[in-house]
Amino acid sequence: MASWSVLIVGGGLAGLSAALELVEGAEAAGGGPVGRVAVVEAGRSAGGRLATRTIDRAVLDHGAQFFTVRSDTLQARVDQWLADGAVEEWCRGFAEVDGFPRYRAPGGMVALAAHMRRRLERAGVEIVTGRRVDAVLSDGERWVTTYHGATREPDEATALIATPPVPQILELLRNGAVAVPAEHRERLEGFTYHRVLALLAVLDRSPGLPAPGALQQPADPVFSFVADNQAKGISPVPAVTFHTAHALSAELWELSDDEVVARLTEPARAYLGGAEITALQLKRWLHTGPVTPWPEPCLTIADRPGPLVLAGDGFGTSRFEGAYNSGLAAARAVATALL
Ligand SMILES: Cc1cc2nc3c(=O)[nH]c(=O)nc-3n(C[C@H](O)[C@H](O)[C@H](O)COP(=O)(O)OP(=O)(O)OC[C@H]3O[C@@H](n4cnc5c(N)ncnc54)[C@H](O)[C@@H]3O)c2cc1C
Repeated sequence: MASWSVLIVGGGLAGLSAALELVEGAEAAGGGPVGRVAVVEAGRSAGGRLATRTIDRAVLDHGAQFFTVRSDTLQARVDQWLADGAVEEWCRGFAEVDGFPRYRAPGGMVALAAHMRRRLERAGVEIVTGRRVDAVLSDGERWVTTYHGATREPDEATALIATPPVPQILELLRNGAVAVPAEHRERLEGFTYHRVLALLAVLDRSPGLPAPGALQQPADPVFSFVADNQAKGISPVPAVTFHTAHALSAELWELSDDEVVARLTEPARAYLGGAEITALQLKRWLHTGPVTPWPEPCLTIADRPGPLVLAGDGFGTSRFEGAYNSGLAAARAVATALL
């Protein structure tokens, strides 16, 4: 059984940000390193909703499209990413230019997660991908994680940070018979997320979307976001990501993939300027963002056998920035408890 000071479940942005803060932040604050840190991620690569798909030669961001920065904490990290070439400014608004930078990642959002991963591995953090935690339990002295299909020996840790969407965290705790404190139970069990359907269309020529190659349409009943990944600078060939509006996503959710594609293809053509679709795929996002986020950036639900902290974009301000800052807050809560 591998033994860790801090085990982070989920290698999306919140999990990676928590790990970075644990190895860099605690030391910078004069507290010294917190000990051995590991991240376990169910997916084949780190990133979670920082997701990029390759279809033939096309490269499409199909989860988060861009991010903005309002906090000093994220700004400090973005300054580092800009210097490393891991992010670039895409634009300062879509239909309206409002002066606030929207950032993209060259190579797609998943490349930013890979960049974070490399930095963590250089700092000695173990990142385990392709392993799905089945249960989180306590053996009385340590937190223990067991794995789906016993694909990995259980891990044990002094502190645990759980970053999947809240319904998935609750399932892991139920499987391990870890009780959620009564004062938080009802609210956590009622936690819901918006869904989104992502239609990914590779084209034979540019769709000619207006600069910067994307439309943000919060009031549109069909597509809330439409972006040409070539104009965005991440795909060598024209390839458009369409995200459906929340209400339409919920309405179409139970249909088969073929039926959803059939329903969305005609409205999508209106954005293509006559270009032909050469390949088409659908991606379903069950947890896009919380309907009502938890007001604090993280939540400690147990102190024994060590801190057990819930984090992710469900906590704090949501979206990319909320997830980043949630990971940071969870790491700080754990570091304070351990040091
Ligand atoms: C379609 C879409 C569009 C979006 N657009 C934007 C945007 O333009 N701008 C913006 O700011 N934000 C956007 N977001 C939101 C942003 O992507 C998220 O807020 C952020 O990436 C969430 O990060 P996270 O670490 O909290 O969660 P996730 O990225 O979901 O990370 C959680 C990780 O936990 C892993 N996991 C789950 N269960 C287990 C388990 N049992 N064992 C091990 N690992 C597990 C998952 O595989 C996942 O990698 C968008 C999201 C979606 C889906």
